[in-house]
Amino acid sequence: MDGEVPDTVAGRTSRGSARMNQLRLDPLTGRWVVVSVDRAERPAAFAFSERSVPVQADTSRPCPFCPGNEESSPPALETYAASGNWAVRVVPNLYPAFEGDHPFVVEHRGPVFTQATAGGIHEVLVLSPSHGDGWDRISDDQAGLVMAAIRDRIEEHSSVPGLRYSQAIVNAGREAGASIEHPHGQLLGISFVPRELAEEQAGFARFAGRCLLCTTVDAEEQAGHRVVYADERVQVICPFWSGTPFEMLVIPRAHGPHLHRAAPPDLYAVGRALRKCLALLRDRLGEVAYNVVFHSAPYRASEPYHWHVHIWPKLTTQAGFEMGTGVLINIVAPEQAAEELQVAVPA
Ligand SMILES: [Zn+2]
Ligand SMILES: [Zn+2]
Ligand SMILES: [Zn+2]
Repeated sequence: MDGEVPDTVAGRTSRGSARMNQLRLDPLTGRWVVVSVDRAERPAAFAFSERSVPVQADTSRPCPFCPGNEESSPPALETYAASGNWAVRVVPNLYPAFEGDHPFVVEHRGPVFTQATAGGIHEVLVLSPSHGDGWDRISDDQAGLVMAAIRDRIEEHSSVPGLRYSQAIVNAGREAGASIEHPHGQLLGISFVPRELAEEQAGFARFAGRCLLCTTVDAEEQAGHRVVYADERVQVICPFWSGTPFEMLVIPRAHGPHLHRAAPPDLYAVGRALRKCLALLRDRLGEVAYNVVFHSAPYRASEPYHWHVHIWPKLTTQAGFEMGTGVLINIVAPEQAAEELQVAVPA
């Protein structure tokens, strides 16, 4: 669903003080929901008109992420520079979905009213100083810096008492949930292991034999026709089980559960592979919205898991059947998607 994670950093000068977001348990599914009071204050967010216009049609305000406007966002937590000026910036999100060091304490307020405090960290990662350069247009070195920033922040989150898992994402385009045009990602450190991660961990545990994704890399290499890009450190496929058109999975060849423990050359290679594959996507389909989702094991979980990155282009909308059953209907076979995207399959 679009906009699950609030994605806005600008547009407000003072922060609502003592109000805290709440986690509520959906007893039907076992999923936690974040109820964000601040977001509800902005009913315009639901207006059809706003959802249908391009990202940041309001040009009356200067872009908070462009060089020179650094004052309009909170002070940077971290900056990376290739030379002199900043190349990548990490700043706190002004509308955090998770905030503060409240421990994860579950409270039962009735037989079906289970809630918890939503402590945690919510940061924005500005991918480059250039307003027009998304991950598909930045240089390999810039992509490497972004990956280094993601690694460093997750490392930092993992040292915060009470936090268990970090989610790094990039939403590009309004349909994918971006509300600011300047290419950026988000980093969330949270105090529980979310359902999607737990389900993937269960998938790894169920898989008979060695690692599920190491096996996938070998099997897809043999099959060949779903490999979109491959080099000596990374493989990108349109997975056999793709649920959405042109979905891609970026798998580092070096096995390891944690992104933040990956070797620098592997991080660099994943950043470059993302750059190449997002550029392929643009070449073939135009400027489509997409979500990039980084999956790494919870800090203190170890095996079995193999960190990876999902690319989910936003080409279709999930409707009633998908919502009702969780069964996705993919109208483009991954074999066909890969064929269209394919550039380099190793000999
Ligand atoms: Zn900008
Ligand atoms: Zn593996
Ligand atoms: Zn995953």
